Amino acid sequence: MPQPIFVSPRAAASRVTRLARLLRLLSVLLPAAALAAPPAAVPPAPRPGPAAAGAAIAPALPPMTSPAAFCAEAVKRLPNLTPVLCQRAGLIDGGGRSVRQQPLWVRDVLPPDAKYRVLVIGGIHGDEPSSSSLVMHWIQQAVATPAEIHWRFVPMANPDGLLQARPTRANANGVDLNRNFPTPNWDKEAIDYWKRRTNRDPRRWPGAKALSEPETRWVHDEMERFKPHLIVSVHAPYGILDFDGPSVPPQRLGRLYLDQIGIFPGSLGNWGGLHKKVPVVTIELPSAVRTPLDAETRQMWLDLLRWMSERLPQPPAA
Ligand SMILES: [Zn+2]
Repeated sequence: MPQPIFVSPRAAASRVTRLARLLRLLSVLLPAAALAAPPAAVPPAPRPGPAAAGAAIAPALPPMTSPAAFCAEAVKRLPNLTPVLCQRAGLIDGGGRSVRQQPLWVRDVLPPDAKYRVLVIGGIHGDEPSSSSLVMHWIQQAVATPAEIHWRFVPMANPDGLLQARPTRANANGVDLNRNFPTPNWDKEAIDYWKRRTNRDPRRWPGAKALSEPETRWVHDEMERFKPHLIVSVHAPYGILDFDGPSVPPQRLGRLYLDQIGIFPGSLGNWGGLHKKVPVVTIELPSAVRTPLDAETRQMWLDLLRWMSERLPQPPAA
């Protein structure tokens, strides 16, 4: 049996873990802005949650029906994204639509000898623009680093939340998309969890029922169509790595160390990793509004590839 890839120094790992726990605690005690946002990025006002379902959050952008139109807006909202990088991402319309009819853009990178299919999703929380930017940067890494992998990148799964003056975690219906996936017992658990464990936090409203939102329905259908061997879901700002599902988790990606933070009713990790048995690597970048440095972005990518090559089960021969 192969040994774990990264046996990180225990002391370093535990320091990072303690720091991550501290940050999480602080995030509960302090407004989100105090941790993540510089003055330029005002944190989103709390949404009224269920009461606001269907209500407009802010003046909506008209649907952007071309990649050029999308990039023109995206470079204004995403940190460290240049027009050239966005254009080179080669996004195409993935067929999905947000509540406000924004296309859900995708990019496939498909070498002829691909054995694995990997779905990479950013920006499912609209107030985590660094996650969308990281996915855009990783598209370039995938093009530049041929591997036996069919990548499908979805840089911005919640465009309505992100592409507005005051980005919101939730979508335009006030639903936390990462609590809206159809985990077993969703009907019993998701809203109960929201009431009891989040104290009815409007930013974490899971929706009136599982898959109530067009964005989550599209991701769900994409899972059925694409049948990924692995999902990588990018978030911020807790600075850790989480993992759900079969296989041995990566111990670290770049400077992010594994710290499994538990499971939530309706989350993509819970649904994909535990219910669908597709491993889900959840990346929590250290900042919601700043991307890692280029060297770190690349190291995370290389560490992901290395973990995949050593730990993902071999797919059956086609
Ligand atoms: Zn998130």
